[in-house]
Amino acid sequence: MRRLTPSELVAELDRRQPFSPEIRAAAEAIVDDVRRRGDEALLEYTRRWDAPHLTRDELALPPEAPAQALAALPASLREALETAAARIAAYHRRFVPESTAWTDAAGNRLGRLVQPLDRVGIYVPGGRAAYPSTVLMTAIPARLAGVGEIVLATPPRPDGSIPPVVLAAAALAGVHRVIRAGGAQAVAALAYGTATVPAVDKIVGPGNAYVTAAKAAVAHRVGIDSLAGPSEIVVVADDSAHPAWVAADLLAQAEHDPLAVVGCLSPVPELLDAVAAELDRRLEAAPRAAIAAAALERGFLVATASLAEAIDLASRLAPEHLSLQVRDPEAWLRRVRAAGAVFLGPFAPVAAGDYAAGTNHVLPTGGAARFQGALSPEAFVRCIPFFAGSREGVAAWAPAARVLAEAEGLPAHAASIRLREGDEPGAREAP
Ligand code: NAD
Repeated sequence: MRRLTPSELVAELDRRQPFSPEIRAAAEAIVDDVRRRGDEALLEYTRRWDAPHLTRDELALPPEAPAQALAALPASLREALETAAARIAAYHRRFVPESTAWTDAAGNRLGRLVQPLDRVGIYVPGGRAAYPSTVLMTAIPARLAGVGEIVLATPPRPDGSIPPVVLAAAALAGVHRVIRAGGAQAVAALAYGTATVPAVDKIVGPGNAYVTAAKAAVAHRVGIDSLAGPSEIVVVADDSAHPAWVAADLLAQAEHDPLAVVGCLSPVPELLDAVAAELDRRLEAAPRAAIAAAALERGFLVATASLAEAIDLASRLAPEHLSLQVRDPEAWLRRVRAAGAVFLGPFAPVAAGDYAAGTNHVLPTGGAARFQGALSPEAFVRCIPFFAGSREGVAAWAPAARVLAEAEGLPAHAASIRLREGDEPGAREAP
């Protein structure tokens, strides 16, 4: 871990990018190819990077496979998935937007119609690991929002299979179809549609830099969630924090990715020293030591003048995960201006939120938490404003609208308003 000053840290993290120009070019070429050649290109790329012997018929998984995988899952794993799914559903149910309508004082009706998206694609990373938790975190909010069809895409393993635990999670979460494809080619297929893959309204879910660059390339055509970069944790700690617990939380993020962003901010220099010593000790025994060591080498320990400065600096970084291991953390929460998700106190490790606390783990990275929130049911609906003016209510809005229309040099706008005001021939007669 490096010792940085607050200003060195800000300068460094302002340069974060989710993908390089080379990856952008590679992803765009794949997207273009799948858009033009459909399943043929989708299959070619899937064979090249994932499953060399997959056939075109196997791109779509048999519809009964998820339920079969769930039935065959070891009981302890099934119970864990069910507990996590129930907690995630209970949390997200509170945030399902509803249509609303009201009548203003002049008698006009106004409101907002909320309609779920018809079809969404969820991307579940494959590659080196299986992520059933990501299936739950994406599909459950979509289902609660009332999405008509949830299509899951995930890269197959070299033998063409999908990890049974991923399929079991898909069955529990209410996924409707599973596509055996990953990377930029899967994102392109979901955005444009192919013979096998139906085109969706929105694509959500994390993935590597190719997946992220492909999402950016299709963002003019479908909705996307934030562009996921490497995982991030910032711990703000005071003298009440346990150095070993802080170190464990930093290490948990570091094992994700050599590029993971890992740091601790504290007004207590001795605490930073103790965390550094704990990290050294734990890294030796860490199972994914090579990945974690690379991330920790780029990690940072920053001494601040006060706890308030540490929290302000953390907000400036807007990290994916912010952990407040301080006295009375809920009082400090109000000072947090931007973060993907906040974990309060010693009994809230970020790993709780990764799996089973109930909060979502699909979070903005790379500073995007300044302008975007965690994935939630709100991401899966269209909010459509409506206005139903009444004859009596015209006076409330028409004079202002007419004056503004004239000021903007749009006389036909003004004329359409005057008709309703009764100042023109034929006014107020119809309907
Ligand atoms: P992935 O599914 O994101 O990517 C695998 C795909 O990458 C392959 O299917 C292939 O199409 C493509 N690919 C690989 N090499 C390529 C190349 N040279 N050119 C073009 N395409 C290529 O799986 P992964 O690579 O293991 O990455 C998973 C990522 O997801 C990690 O960064 C992990 O940290 C992240 N993740 C994030 C969360 C979260 O919620 N934040 C959860 C789980 C995983």
